[in-house]
Amino acid sequence: MEHEKLRTAITEIAADMAAETDRGRVATYIPELADVDPGQFGIAAVTADGTLLSAGDANTCFSIQSVSKVFTLTLALEALDDALWDRVGREPSGDPFNSIIQLEAEKGRPRNPFINAGAIAVTDAILDDDNAEEALDKILDFLRNVSGDNSIAIDDSVARSEAATGFRNYALANFMRSWSVIENAPDRALDVYFNHCAIAMSCRQLANAGRYLAWDGKLGPNAERLIPEQRARRINALMLTCGHYDGSGEFAFRVGLPGKSGVGGGILAIVPGQASIAVWSPGLNAVGNSKLGSLALERLAERMGWSVFARGEA
Ligand code: GLU
Repeated sequence: MEHEKLRTAITEIAADMAAETDRGRVATYIPELADVDPGQFGIAAVTADGTLLSAGDANTCFSIQSVSKVFTLTLALEALDDALWDRVGREPSGDPFNSIIQLEAEKGRPRNPFINAGAIAVTDAILDDDNAEEALDKILDFLRNVSGDNSIAIDDSVARSEAATGFRNYALANFMRSWSVIENAPDRALDVYFNHCAIAMSCRQLANAGRYLAWDGKLGPNAERLIPEQRARRINALMLTCGHYDGSGEFAFRVGLPGKSGVGGGILAIVPGQASIAVWSPGLNAVGNSKLGSLALERLAERMGWSVFARGEA
């Protein structure tokens, strides 16, 4: 991997994004997120030898929101393995992230682990006997471990803001409880869910956290195994097909990489065997994905020749 080429690409893309005037709109349905300055943009990428290159506001912590769903999915698969799929599907939803219609039609089993309903069901799967604190510790410990940074923490004001206004999520959780798709008290599952969505991380921390997905379940090509190879590949497959709400097809078309976005404006994207990338810009497009984050990843993938559909070296 040519670091110079990547360094130049990241630096130039960050400069272009800083100059963009059309930056999308920050999410306002979680009151705490409405106050974030849309003028920010950060990017970080970790390569196979562990080199981390970054530009822009790559050290600024933001609310990772739905990007956390990749990590909770990893933990739920660790806990339940394939039994998780009795509770959650693996198909793109084609509906907004918080849609309730599909859930009723499909008897409380959410389409995939990345829409809200699916992520709440996944969170419930890592919650034992309503013990929310223990589940949150497990999530934070995992994130601190994979990112190699013990300072990662929950932004309490964002968590409180979501708990106070997440009426739709309460409806989803109660509905799933009525079908026994979730087993703990809906309030407890949501407590964990709101808190893990409110974890604050920088692009640098997030890019490091994604390494195990770039290297088949290991933090680098020669590192110790954290999760089975097949599991890492399957999580990537779900990120590619379902990671961007009902903009997943467009993201796969434009960027060609597994990615997971969050309404805080962050995106984690994986180039299997090559890099783990995090971008952040708070302004969102019409389907709730970071507008400049998506654009930056499209440009970076093109400049570097990165795509999961690229012809591999013979
Ligand atoms: N915590 C947010 C919610 O449940 C997550 C939304 C997102 O990033 O997609 O509404």
